[in-house]
Amino acid sequence: MPERTCVACGAVRPKKELLRIVLSDDGISFDPGGRKNGRGAYLCPDEACLEAAFKKKALDKSFKTHVDAATYEALLQELRTLL
Ligand SMILES: [Zn+2]
Repeated sequence: MPERTCVACGAVRPKKELLRIVLSDDGISFDPGGRKNGRGAYLCPDEACLEAAFKKKALDKSFKTHVDAATYEALLQELRTLL
């Protein structure tokens, strides 16, 4: 079973237990179906991990670009619809 690492807490979990976040031409968003093209990062399905990712700028590192606070806030709102 493929495993991925949460960018925030470093937990290694089966891919299907993590949420994929993708950087695509449309910007940064969750990819619940795992089908969008683009650079991906994985996160536990947990608001605490998204907040930790913000504090550590984990997505900035994963995507090699600046991810602003508004983007993290939009991801938080999106995450709440997925939990
Ligand atoms: Zn995590």
